[in-house]
Amino acid sequence: MSNNDLAQRSRSAVWHPCTQMKTLETLPPLAIRQAEGVWLHDYDGHRYLDATSAWWVNLFGHRNPRINAALKAQLDTLEHVMLAGCTHEPVVALSEKLARLTGLGHAFYGSDGASATEIALKMSFHFWRNRGLSGKNRFVSLQHGYHGETVGALAVTDIPIFRDTYAPLLRASAQVPSPDWRLAESGESPQDYALRCAQALDDYLAAHHAEIAAVILEPLVQGAAGMAMYHADYLLLARQSCNRYQVHLIADEIAVGFGRTGTMFACEQAGITPDFICLSKGLTGGYLPLSAVLTTNAVYECFYDDATARGFLHSHSYTGNALACRAALATLEIFEQDNVLVANRAKQVRMNAALQPLRELPIAHPRNTGMIWAFDVPDAPADFPRHFYQQALAHGLLLRPLGNTVYFMPPYVISDAEIDWLAERIILVMKKVTT
Ligand SMILES: *Cc1c(COP(=O)(O)O)cnc(C)c1O
Repeated sequence: MSNNDLAQRSRSAVWHPCTQMKTLETLPPLAIRQAEGVWLHDYDGHRYLDATSAWWVNLFGHRNPRINAALKAQLDTLEHVMLAGCTHEPVVALSEKLARLTGLGHAFYGSDGASATEIALKMSFHFWRNRGLSGKNRFVSLQHGYHGETVGALAVTDIPIFRDTYAPLLRASAQVPSPDWRLAESGESPQDYALRCAQALDDYLAAHHAEIAAVILEPLVQGAAGMAMYHADYLLLARQSCNRYQVHLIADEIAVGFGRTGTMFACEQAGITPDFICLSKGLTGGYLPLSAVLTTNAVYECFYDDATARGFLHSHSYTGNALACRAALATLEIFEQDNVLVANRAKQVRMNAALQPLRELPIAHPRNTGMIWAFDVPDAPADFPRHFYQQALAHGLLLRPLGNTVYFMPPYVISDAEIDWLAERIILVMKKVTT
């Protein structure tokens, strides 16, 4: 088998996500035969550094020995059982652990990020309904926010290329200004700009809180917006506004959770606890689809009743899948055993040092939060993302820009030598595509 054979079969049999299939005529999918650590290997003997962690999900490398061993043992014990009326050790242990880590409890499971968004939105609305406030049935999200692409999640997502086509299917939600510091006026600090945006949110809630169930946001980094980063004070003020106006705060930590921003969860950097936290992506270390929504005792207790319909009846066949929960437990054990957050701080410093020469190139807004890096390429031509992607592949990197934003968030197991190599290659590719 060659890359080309498999790519051709894939083009006719598989409908690829986030892809205009016609583009695969000239840019066939990369056929990956196997992977190990930060490296992906194709059928033609080439290897590529997985610089965006398999779409932001991988934390501790491909074929991680500890996660592999845990999954193999779980396979010989229990693969899956329905979670309505049954329970099992992996889902209980994982729920206990997530409760300790987040300060929230009552873990409710889905299989993907978009489902976690749906669950949080439904729970928030249902909470207010159980309280006799069924008029609180609308949501507020941030401009350029991303919360998934199922019909409910898309209604709070503000990425035109994903949303506009389906607008007639979606229930309108309100978008308030994004605290993305790239949008600050000249002379305005990221913090001042965050405060100005927080005031806009407060003004909106002051006028509309009677119909608003929740504010949903991506804490600290808006991923799909192009790694838009913002000051933590926004979260603190958003929390205060939500308290003031009796509105829930839903923290979508699907991308930023599990150490990506430097703390286990991004909300920790603002010292706040949301009413709901949505988790997925890194939750299983990039092994199996799983998402979780955790919430407060106050929310949970409002559903606890003799009346069936006051309960949260959302049902999903693979809820709390035992294999996925085991992969998540093995992932969290690595955090406990290896002091990962501390080790990542040294990697962050090293990467920033290695990226210094980038500043001599025609880039804008170089930025970094924890283990996420990004910069923009001003006046990039329309074919920039494709051109960059192809040059990156030719230089041994799997790295797809988002519009004119180049971003990377490698697995945490990246070594110092690999950090230096990755930075060097990105600079080399930038030189190729901008000259
Ligand atoms: C990826 C992502 C989602 C959606 O998760 P899926 O598993 O792709 O449905 C939701 N919110 C954020 C912030 C994400 O990054």
